[in-house]
Order: sequence, then C-alpha cells, then structure tokens
Amino acid sequence: MIVKTRFAPSPTGYLHLGGARTALFSWLLARQNGGKFVLRIEDTDRDRSTRESVDTIFQAMEWLGLDWDEGPFYQTRRMERYREVIRQLLDEGHAYYCYCSRKELDHMREAAMAAGDKPKYNGKYREFAGEPPAGIEPVVRFKNPLQGITVFEDQVKGHVTVNNSELDDLIIARSDGTPTYNFTVVVDDLDMDITHVVRGDDHINNTPRQINILQALGSSPPIYCHVPMILGDDGRRLSKRHGAVSVMRYADDGYLPEALLNYLVRLGWSYGDQEVFSRQDMIEKFSLSAINKAASVFNADKLLWLNRHYMKQAASTINLAEQIGRRLTLGGIAVDQGPDLVDVVEVLRGRTQTLAEMTDRARMFYADYDAFDEKAADKNLRPAIARPMQVFRDRLEVLEGWQISSIHALAESIAEQFELKIGKIGQPIRVAVTGGNVSPSIGETIYLMGKQRALRGLNRALKYIEEKAMKSS
Ligand code: GLU
Repeated sequence: MIVKTRFAPSPTGYLHLGGARTALFSWLLARQNGGKFVLRIEDTDRDRSTRESVDTIFQAMEWLGLDWDEGPFYQTRRMERYREVIRQLLDEGHAYYCYCSRKELDHMREAAMAAGDKPKYNGKYREFAGEPPAGIEPVVRFKNPLQGITVFEDQVKGHVTVNNSELDDLIIARSDGTPTYNFTVVVDDLDMDITHVVRGDDHINNTPRQINILQALGSSPPIYCHVPMILGDDGRRLSKRHGAVSVMRYADDGYLPEALLNYLVRLGWSYGDQEVFSRQDMIEKFSLSAINKAASVFNADKLLWLNRHYMKQAASTINLAEQIGRRLTLGGIAVDQGPDLVDVVEVLRGRTQTLAEMTDRARMFYADYDAFDEKAADKNLRPAIARPMQVFRDRLEVLEGWQISSIHALAESIAEQFELKIGKIGQPIRVAVTGGNVSPSIGETIYLMGKQRALRGLNRALKYIEEKAMKSS
C-alpha cells in the first residue's frame, strides 16, 4: 500500500499555525513512508474563498518546504464529478430528494426540542414516493443507516464509536445543486486514494458521517488521525488575539522556516526529550502514535529560542547574508556601501534572535545613525571621557592594518594610558560610533562599519560633549 496523505485547507484566510502543523504531520507521514502528499483546495464556499488566500497558502507551504506531489486540486473544478456521485447515490437508493421548506425544518427542530430530543431532521422524505410539493427546489440528503454503530480507530483519540441513530440524514447537495463539505471530502479522499486523513479534531464529528457515505459508495475508510487543537497561554483556542498566527507573518518577522517547522513538530508530538529536529530527523522519527492526546499550548518564547538556535548554528551564513541583504535593501540601505554581509552575519548570528533583529542591528554598519539614544548619550558622553575619546579618535585615524584585533588593542592601550577600565572607555566609544548602547565588541563594531563612519561618530560625540559642557557652564 502506498501511503497517501493530503492537506485540504479551505482558502478563507492565511495559513495559520494550526493548519501548518496539520500539513506538516501529513507531509511527514508521506515522506517517511516514501508515499505521496496531496494538496487540495477546498474552495466550495465561494463567498468566503479567495484567490489571495490560495496564494498565501501556497506561499506559506513553499516557505516551509512542504512540497506536494499531487495537486493543487480545486474542489470548484470537480463539480462534474460530485454531480455524478450524487446521481449514483440517488440511483442506488443511498440518497433522496428532500422537499422540506425552511419553515418546516424550523418546526421540526422546535418540536424535537420541546420533546427533549436532539434537534435533527426526522427523515420525512426518506421513503417518499408521492407527488413532490410544487415550487420547492429540493436538497439531496444522504440516507444514513438508522441502526447500528459507526466505529473507527483514531490514531490519536483511540476507539471512537457513534450510534447511527444520532446522525441525521445530512444534506449532500443544496437546492442549487452545489455539494456540501462532508460529501466533497469523501469523494475526494476516495478518488485521490487517500490512505491517512490527518486533520484537526474539530472535524471528528464529521468522521462517522463521512465513513457512512464512503461505505455507501462501496469503499472502506482511510485511517484517521484527529490532531488536538493549539491553545493560547490563556487556555483558549489559539487565535489572533494571542499574537501572530499566520505562518507568513513569522516569515516577515524574521523567523527561519527550519525553526518554525521544528517548533510545530514538537507542538503536540514528542520523541523522548529531544527538542531540536532537522527536517531529515523529523521525517525519520515522526509517528502518529506519539501525538499527544491533549491540546498543546503555544509558547512564543520556545519558538524564539529555536529560532535563535537555527540562526546561530544551523543556517548557512550565505543564506542568512542573502536574506539580511534583501531586508536591508528593502529598508533603503545601500548594502554595497558597507562591509561584506557574510562578515556581518558571522558577528551577529550568535547575538540576535530573528532576521528582523539582525537586520536592525546590521544597519549601523551601512548607514550613519540619525541621532543619539538620549539616555545612552547622557550617561556615557561626559566631559571626563572627552580627552581619552579624542586620543582614541586621532589614533584610529592613522591606524594601520584594519583589523578587529588592532582596533581592540588600540582601545585597550587608551584605557591603560588614562588608567580606565576598558568598559569605561568602551561604552562611550560604542555610543559615539553607533548612537546607542548595543553592538558587538568595539573591535568588531568599528572594524565592520569602517574607519570613516567610526570617525564621523566619534566627531559627533566629541561635539556633543563640548556643546553640553558649554550649555551647563
Ligand atoms: N477544509 C477543511 C478545513 O480547512 C479540512 C477538511 C479535512 O481535512 O478533511 O478545515
């Protein structure tokens, strides 16, 4: 048997973390078994489906590297096939036309509730053979078995049993002929030879209905795996109010796809106490049986920790450099006016958590700062430091051999000359050359920004100290 899984998003918004995790689990299962992964766009809800959503779903899947072997299939392009199967079910007596008006259905519901029963369709037209009422476009309902039980072994939830008497005859085609969700999924899973259905557990109530339709079509059900949902830290279902939930938002915010994938695979699945998984590693170790039964809680700090890990250790410098270059350019920075991006990445990769942060921190090597951070300047640019800073500036100007170590040695020699601890001169120099408090070591910072930019900063700082002294005198 060839393992065939699918991801079947409804394109009514961006790809969110929950969807991406479902896609990942399905993809892993296919890859692990040398099987096939199908992408199917469930776009029958024409009012809510948009081309833009389809595109962002593709974009997110590509960014995450979740490549598909078949598809994308669009349900809206399969209408002919659905009509054919509806016809077949009608012909074989597994489905029937129902002429109930909305009003009638409302009454039915009210009557059931008044009698203390679950509100459901009472099967009025199930065995109908008379003259249909005039002026009503009928829906098509599936003849659900009246007795017996529907059973399946869910890979996460275990043994699931439902009494057929609890399921009513669901509508499979609306009065305008369009098929409904539970029906199209069944036809598609069948036609596409899907062996494993991995999806969110919000669909578990649909499963017995889908199994009954499958059986009416003479087929046996696939293996089901209903994945528990993702919660925010307040215990409620993860949503926008918890922060970013869109996959591409994480891309924009400077997360690496490896980090997000690693985070998602561990969200509700475990392998001993291992936290870091390369793509290959997760393909080898993933198993449906190790998916947690309980819902998982989203933890933004852990994702950040993983991102930092990948930025520091795993991602290639060239790849990071390209991305930082692109981001800087987008921000209007001329990257050819500064150091080699590879050198910048080498210095910053252990010090930053996201590409966005790295870009922000790289800016100082390519462009002069706009203004001093006031607090940093106030604290560090004081009259007592003017003289050592001036000497540092003058000696930097004539420094030969532009190297991190020689710049560092120069700072040390000035500290020694003025009997200062290195930090006492280092931090004012940092504020002078970067405008703020945070940068790599003085040697690395000045080396990367180049002599001219550093000298401009030192001049500005010296002027600042002088002007401030004049004002207060
Ligand atoms: N289209 C459904 C959704 O986005 C998924 C259906 C399924 O996986 O069976 O929730």
